[in-house]
Amino acid sequence: MSFLQLKGVEKYFGELRAIKGVNLSIEKGEFIVFVGPSGCGKSTLLRMIAGLTEIDAGSLQLDGRDITKLPSSKRDLAMVFQSYALYPHMSVFDNMSFALRLANVDKAVIQEKVTRAAQILNLTNYLQRTPKELSGGQRQRVAIGRAIVRAPKVFLFDEPLSNLDAALRGQTRVEIAQLHRELGATTIYVTHDQVEAMTLADRVVVLRDGQIEQVGSPLELYDRPANQFVAQFIGTPQ
Ligand code: ADP
Ligand code: MG
Repeated sequence: MSFLQLKGVEKYFGELRAIKGVNLSIEKGEFIVFVGPSGCGKSTLLRMIAGLTEIDAGSLQLDGRDITKLPSSKRDLAMVFQSYALYPHMSVFDNMSFALRLANVDKAVIQEKVTRAAQILNLTNYLQRTPKELSGGQRQRVAIGRAIVRAPKVFLFDEPLSNLDAALRGQTRVEIAQLHRELGATTIYVTHDQVEAMTLADRVVVLRDGQIEQVGSPLELYDRPANQFVAQFIGTPQ
């Protein structure tokens, strides 16, 4: 059985069938990118995996456990929000340790985890600053740090770079790729940007109207797009 499995997952918003029977198997350590045009259901699917949006039908398995009905806090997943979701009046250290402090984790353990995450993210010298004293890229790294200290089974990103300018986007993309190589953590990353998808992904999931059009490595999608939609979206003339 795969590490994370979606079977027949459905979502309705009133009359709108936003997610239509999605089946997907993700292996441990994979970097998966959900890509597709605005409104195709990327965020909804990610939020259902995170437990932030209820699943109307189908099931979700993580590491051999059925998590379909589990609350978000019990799923061992961490969603990385855009950098504006930081607590503005807390230091970087307090931002990164917030979830651990809530869970009453031992102070020495918190210190160790935050120190390690700060090393990985090049934030060691910024732990006492507040978010407004940081650059956009550094803020984004703090948001990632908050997830890392919880050692989740899966990292979930929803368009984490969309608030950054083009130069910073490129740089942060490289950092996220490095981070994945270093941590080897299973990651699902949502974007509407083909370049981001093709440079980051082990496998790309192309979504359209709440359905999966194709799943494959970037090379497979370039070489053998399943249909006209994928070909056009990925940018290869057929
Ligand atoms: P994407 O992230 O790919 O842009 P979304 O998952 O946000 O797409 O949205 C998929 C579809 O579901 C869209 O048609 C959107 O308008 C609709 N939708 C998303 N969230 C809600 C909601 N909370 N209430 C009603 N409709 C929603
Ligand atoms: Mg979205």
